[in-house]
Amino acid sequence: MSFTLAIVGRPNVGKSTLFNRLVGKRLALVDDQPGVTRDLREGAARLADLRFTVIDTAGLEEVTDYSLQGRMRRLTERAVDMADICLFMIDARVGVTPSDLVFADILRKRSAHVILAANKAEGAAAEAGVIEAYSLGLGEPVRLSAEHGEGLNDLYTQLMPLADGFAERAKSDAPDVDVDLSEAEAEDPDAVPMPNDAKPLQVAVVGRPNAGKSTLINQILGEDRLLTGPEAGITRDAISLRTDWAGPEGTPVPMRIFDTAGMRKKAKVQEKLEKLSVSDGLRAVKFAEVVVVLLDAEIPFEQQDLRIADLAEREGRAVVIAVNKWDIEGDRQAKLKELKESFERLLPQLRGAPLVTVSAKTGRGMDRLHGAIMRAYEVWNRRISTAQLNRWLSGMMEAHPPPAPQGKRIKLRYMTQAKTRPPGFVVMCSHPDKVPDSYNRYLVNGLRLDFDMPGTPIRLWMRGQS
Ligand code: GDP
Ligand code: GDP
Repeated sequence: MSFTLAIVGRPNVGKSTLFNRLVGKRLALVDDQPGVTRDLREGAARLADLRFTVIDTAGLEEVTDYSLQGRMRRLTERAVDMADICLFMIDARVGVTPSDLVFADILRKRSAHVILAANKAEGAAAEAGVIEAYSLGLGEPVRLSAEHGEGLNDLYTQLMPLADGFAERAKSDAPDVDVDLSEAEAEDPDAVPMPNDAKPLQVAVVGRPNAGKSTLINQILGEDRLLTGPEAGITRDAISLRTDWAGPEGTPVPMRIFDTAGMRKKAKVQEKLEKLSVSDGLRAVKFAEVVVVLLDAEIPFEQQDLRIADLAEREGRAVVIAVNKWDIEGDRQAKLKELKESFERLLPQLRGAPLVTVSAKTGRGMDRLHGAIMRAYEVWNRRISTAQLNRWLSGMMEAHPPPAPQGKRIKLRYMTQAKTRPPGFVVMCSHPDKVPDSYNRYLVNGLRLDFDMPGTPIRLWMRGQS
């Protein structure tokens, strides 16, 4: 038995291009089969060791009035109903359009298993669109370039745990779709890729204006390379700076630091400020592996701080909260307690992220910050073995069995880590749509505690078997 993957999305996003790539020369048109409309193409697909049927909703024309015409909707619904898994494709160069929202809606209602793909993702023009794709609420998008055959590796990574539930995977022959899985296979499961000169650790320092970002970056760089000052309106264009930051152990760590201060200070009109800072933040967060959210101890957890921290979490970055201007703080004990309470209350999605106090001006706490960044990075890359996870899962189920909505006991069968950076886990289970959020949280919090993973977003997906 194999599974069926439907590629859906509005016209021109690249569905047929992907279809052709997956099917290669083995294209079998079955469009005159009863019950299949002529507009659905079906083919036998291969992706590395996976064998499956792929359906493409070809032959659609662009709908001009921003509402999906009935035919398009019906065709999509039919494809979705025929499929075990849906690959929803958007055009990353265009971003999310109103039609895309209609598709997302259909998929949310009709399909248990959706993989989101942002196609045409080659090159910088696609970055904003890829980020926008997260707003569809369908999880992390796979960056694809169907035309150039890029991202198939990531597609495989998302497909594989789902496919495992549907089908025996072909054990035989070598992949004849051009996917390079050698890197993934050769990877030492316990190795954390350490930053080096070729790939310095990418750190973004984000926060509201005057939090002290420039001062902090100067402190890290150890020289007065950036301007600092309280006046708004100073324009600085420093976007990223390469440095070797030696931590308490003295070993210099190659880093690239993204500065958002410069761009922000160009904003003259106050009302524009928040908008601008969020999109600047977006840009920096997108490049970063670790995001340092810098707060001003005097005015911590402002709306803007919360938005950017939430964004970093949604983008799946490792997050460190740094509270600046600690030098002018009076009652530090009380303040710290208050900060931790606010943190728990206002950013529950970042529970466990390190909160460190620093003074960018005097340099106090810089070692702590360095340590927190390195640790967050390590956790972000963490890989846990399937054996360990499944032992852990049985323990968790014993301690607190999953509920039985309407008398149907939810069975969690198997768990595996599907990805790192950030860590993402898949649980194969019966009735995945019935697993309450509270049970999901129980598992995520458990993972965080038991495998000691503070300061990183943890993704957990429930997948069904049919
Ligand atoms: P469909 O209508 O969704 O099936 O889209 P097509 O597969 O027909 O592709 C529409 C257009 O986008 C074609 O001109 C393709 O060559 C182009 N296209 C498809 N994939 C990519 C890609 O990854 N990058 C770029 N730049 N163009 C692509
Ligand atoms: P940015 O807008 O986030 O880049 O903030 P700046 O680095 O320009 O700093 C804004 C103001 O806060 C400047 O007047 C800095 O001197 C001051 N400042 C920055 N860090 C500290 C700190 O650790 N302690 C104190 N007391 N002031 C600081």
